[in-house]
Formats: sequence, structure tokens, C-alpha cells
Amino acid sequence: MRVLYVEDEKYLADAVIHLLKKANITVDWADNGNDGLELASTGNYDCIVLDIMLPKLSGIEVLRSLRQRQNPTPIIMLSALSEVDDKIRGLEAGADDYLAKPFKTAELIARINALTRRPPLQASQTLSYGDLTYDITERTLNSLPLTAKEAEIIELLLRTPDQVQSKERILARVWGHDAVDSYVEVYISYLRKKLQQLGSNIQIKTVRSLGYKITDKG
Ligand code: CA
Repeated sequence: MRVLYVEDEKYLADAVIHLLKKANITVDWADNGNDGLELASTGNYDCIVLDIMLPKLSGIEVLRSLRQRQNPTPIIMLSALSEVDDKIRGLEAGADDYLAKPFKTAELIARINALTRRPPLQASQTLSYGDLTYDITERTLNSLPLTAKEAEIIELLLRTPDQVQSKERILARVWGHDAVDSYVEVYISYLRKKLQQLGSNIQIKTVRSLGYKITDKG
């Protein structure tokens, strides 16, 4: 596994990298946003750990730029401010997870493992509904790459088409920790944009005060 770690605090970076290596994770380190973006753009990483406060280009700007270019690498944001605001800002820009500083490296490793966990290699597994085909192994929807959290949500919805999944259930299944309701709304809005981009006849419908379901537009 190869991780890109973008962090300008050298002492912190040294300590974290040491522990990641002990966990058999190969780490490339960048100490500013520009270099981080350049390395991340190679697409050579299983996961990116991205600090928010960085010289040259902020973590949020790096994140936005990667997501605009459809780079689907899972991204964990780090921030010294454990404010919900900061979390939401990162998640809105397309982050998959968030960790407040100071954090335990063991916790970071657990989050990296959770985001990079793939189904065991086997013949491609797909879920289909209407004009949509989701490839579970590749994490693509009609060949369009999805981010880790988008993929988990669409999989949950596609396994139970026309049935309502509550926001609480989606939160518990996809995040399972330290989550707020707005995460679900943010990711549902990403998925809707992707469905629109695909010109699909299928929609994710909001069922007032109950949750969401995937259903035919007709
Ligand atoms: Ca920093």
C-alpha cells in the first residue's frame, strides 16, 4: 500500500511516517500544497492524508482540484481545529474522512485501512438497476469512478432498490463513527450530480423525514 502524506510540520510528519512504515505502508511525503497536488495527480496512491493548513496551497484547495479532475483516490483530511465547520468544509470539497489533530497514528492507520479495503479479488461483481450498472470491484458506476464513500452509499441503495434507507442507517453503515447528518446530504448531492452526468433515468429520491431511495424517474 502506498500513501501520500501532505504535512508541513516536519516533527509530526517524521513521527507519523515512522509508524506508518512499521505498519508496512509505503509513504511519500510532501511539505506543501503545490508538491502535494503534483504528486497526488500521478494517481499512484491508495490513499492521501492531507493537512488543511499548508503553505503555498491549502489542503482544501488541493482536495478541490483533485476532485474537479475526477481523481477518485480516498482522502483523509487533517486539521488542528476540531470544529465541525472544518469537517463539513472538507467533506463538501470531496474528502472521504476527517481526523482532528492531535490524533493517534493507530487511529490514522485504521482509517486508511477502512478506506482502502477492497472486496477480495474475484470475477467482477456488479449491481444493476434500470440503466445503471455499479461495479463493486472497480467502484465504478457505468464506468464513472466513484470515491470510497460515494461507492458505499450507492451500493447500499442499489441493494434495496425502491426501498427507503434512513439517513441514520446510511451514516452507521458508511461512517460508523463520529459522524453528523450533513455528511449523508453532502454525498447524496455528489451522487445526484454523477447520475445527472451519466444522463441516467434513475434518481435518488428524498423521502421526507425517512431517508433516501433509488428509483426510476418515470
Ligand atoms: Ca499544517
